[in-house]
Amino acid sequence: MFGNSWRLGRIAGIEIRVDTSWVVIALLVTYSLYLRLTESFEGLQTGVAVLLAGLFALLFFGSVLTHELAHAVTALRRGIPVRGITLFLFGGATHAKVESKGPGEEFVIAGVGPLTSLVLGGLFLLLGYVGRTFLGMPLAGGFRYLGVVNLMLAVFNMLPGFPLDGGRVLRAIVWRATGSLARATRVASIAGQVVGYLIIGVGVLFLTQGVLVSAIWLASIGWFLSQAARSSYEELQVRRMLESVEAEDLMSPELVSIPADLPLRTAVDDYFMRYDHGAFPVHDDGRTVGLLTLRGVKRVPQAEWTGRTAADTMEPIGEQCSVDASARMDTVLSKIQDGGSGRCLVLRDGLVVGIITPSDIARWLERRRALRA
Ligand SMILES: [Zn+2]
Repeated sequence: MFGNSWRLGRIAGIEIRVDTSWVVIALLVTYSLYLRLTESFEGLQTGVAVLLAGLFALLFFGSVLTHELAHAVTALRRGIPVRGITLFLFGGATHAKVESKGPGEEFVIAGVGPLTSLVLGGLFLLLGYVGRTFLGMPLAGGFRYLGVVNLMLAVFNMLPGFPLDGGRVLRAIVWRATGSLARATRVASIAGQVVGYLIIGVGVLFLTQGVLVSAIWLASIGWFLSQAARSSYEELQVRRMLESVEAEDLMSPELVSIPADLPLRTAVDDYFMRYDHGAFPVHDDGRTVGLLTLRGVKRVPQAEWTGRTAADTMEPIGEQCSVDASARMDTVLSKIQDGGSGRCLVLRDGLVVGIITPSDIARWLERRRALRA
């Protein structure tokens, strides 16, 4: 989302990552819990208060993670691959093409998250209520707070604006009713922008009442939501424009390719330093056998550049993203987004005829928009 994230580990085979923005949230949550605890219970020692605040912050973190795991496990059970979970500033994101199987699947997978938060909220509230006698007040109070926070998570996520869970539920319903995913996404994205601006509006209202911190929070959440809704709608428009073109119409024709037995030193001097390309197809016996990338060359120590060849440094064609010249561009875009290398080779009869990078797609879209305007 904001770029950098750390890998935490795996749960049920699902990779869990934490966005760097979460550090801010973790500190903020711990600090606000600490303030609440020390204000509510005057006799509490500072050390105990910090410890309790840390414990409840951890449980809050676990609650958000459980919400995302509910999405992920349900998706997996329904045969939709999950690339992982990232926790970030306003919650989490489960990386899966939830819409790939149909409206019924999207409805269930999206709905199960808020439902999980609702159940967790109920459990924590119950624990807070029952625990008043045997846990003692600070602990019971903390559980009650967690209960309320989880209920708020459930309500917020059920707001009917894409890309929130509620927006996905709305999209699934419109999709089922109209039979068109494109129209459903449009409706849900517009709803997302409306909900986002409404939240900003409430934030401004708070501001006029002098409730500064909540106002800033609401405004930034609303802004984030309206932007996310708009960009998912824009991505949909881009996909629709790309549906009508084939890989061949958009690729940069890659006429320069290098022989397999060329020493790396020569490849660097005569190709990478001379042409404006980050990668060159490698040919052997009239066929394209791989792709030599600048990144791959940099991994080899300079002293070995004379002894090594293009063939033993390249990425073999099978490991590269490659598509047929007549492939539809919307599927090519998905392939580039899913693959790690950020580029896709275009083949005709086993021979590379071009290459597609995200900047090729961006340039094409820019030209198309300019011509239409
Ligand atoms: Zn969710």
